[in-house]
Amino acid sequence: MTYLSLAGLSQTEGAADIVVGCVVGPSISDAFPPSERARAVPGEAYTLLFGVTNPSSRGSLRISGPDIDDAPVIDPRYLDTAHDRAAFRAALAHARLVGASAELDGWRDEELLPGGDAMSDTEADAFIARAAITHHHPVGTLRMGSEDHAPVTPDLRLRGLEGVHVVDASVIPSITAGPVHAAVLAIAESFADTYPA
Ligand SMILES: Cc1cc2nc3c(=O)[nH]c(=O)nc-3n(C[C@H](O)[C@H](O)[C@H](O)COP(=O)(O)OP(=O)(O)OC[C@H]3O[C@@H](n4cnc5c(N)ncnc54)[C@H](O)[C@@H]3O)c2cc1C
Repeated sequence: MTYLSLAGLSQTEGAADIVVGCVVGPSISDAFPPSERARAVPGEAYTLLFGVTNPSSRGSLRISGPDIDDAPVIDPRYLDTAHDRAAFRAALAHARLVGASAELDGWRDEELLPGGDAMSDTEADAFIARAAITHHHPVGTLRMGSEDHAPVTPDLRLRGLEGVHVVDASVIPSITAGPVHAAVLAIAESFADTYPA
């Protein structure tokens, strides 16, 4: 995975905007079923992954009824903001730049997805809406904060219920730019230091 700034590929200061990665396998999913050219065989194709590190779209998680078995209503609202759609288009453009680079000439036959040449913003948005999947980093469903309406205090106490602490990804107030596991470990370590057994 390479984290990049939209201010320029050589920019190494500040927060990253997009991420581009590579896996040595074809992209097979519900949206992109196997085909004659892209069979579900590892090593027969490579896939450039691309994403947005700091999405501004915000989803919601709601209860659907009073019983514990009532399924939650989850609406991720991916690609909801113009910021995210523009950053995603830039990430796609960077992935295609890498994919078409001379260094990969010996590895590449042709680009299967999205395929073709230049794309309009509308075409890119349509491809991204089809291709985008979750990065499995949900956070903030029980976010910590110093405001009274934040459900968890900065020292991880659940407001309104004595003796309960929350120590997991749900307390992270906003999504981390990179994979979230390290942040979860840091929260757990700091909790263990504060409240030794
Ligand atoms: C497919 C996938 C790939 C990922 N890849 C990466 C990665 O490469 N790098 C990275 O940094 N992050 C990755 N993540 C994200 C990372 O795994 C999570 O953000 C992180 O594990 C969240 O930690 P957590 O402690 O909040 O929750 P979890 O790790 O989900 O822990 C919750 C625990 O609670 C237990 N539990 C649930 N209900 C009950 C119950 N009723 N009673 C008792 N126990 C219960 C569960 O069994 C589980 O052990 C990935 C996530 C997924 C799903």
